[in-house]
Amino acid sequence: MSDQPNRPFTAAAFNRYLAEHKLMASRCPACDALYLPPRAICPRCQGDALAWTELSGHGRLAAFTSIFVAPSGMIAEGYSRDNPYVAGVVELDEGVKISARILGVDARNPAAIQVGTPLSVEFLDRGEGEQKKTFLAFKA
Ligand SMILES: [Zn+2]
Repeated sequence: MSDQPNRPFTAAAFNRYLAEHKLMASRCPACDALYLPPRAICPRCQGDALAWTELSGHGRLAAFTSIFVAPSGMIAEGYSRDNPYVAGVVELDEGVKISARILGVDARNPAAIQVGTPLSVEFLDRGEGEQKKTFLAFKA
């Protein structure tokens, strides 16, 4: 679990950190801006000395939707019209936002789900070996 500050700021590197159960953003040391998904160049000050930084994994629900018509990968996990799930946008304590699965809320009763609900990061490992993939989720 050593730090690898030289990883490129790509989706693949971000996903590799997820597989290590780390939620990572990039921070610009020149102006302190934070980017999630990570960027290599700071659009605010054009700085290019960005560095990976691990986020706390704590945030609040900013927006959400209950999904009743699941894509095939979610159907394989048992989701369906009768067993919907929630996807949402989470605003992290650090001020950046990301979309993710939302756990611990009642997908069948979206009217009861509150924007602003405190959430904590969860890493969902699916598949085995080469097929293994880690999905980002947040739990109420
Ligand atoms: Zn900057």
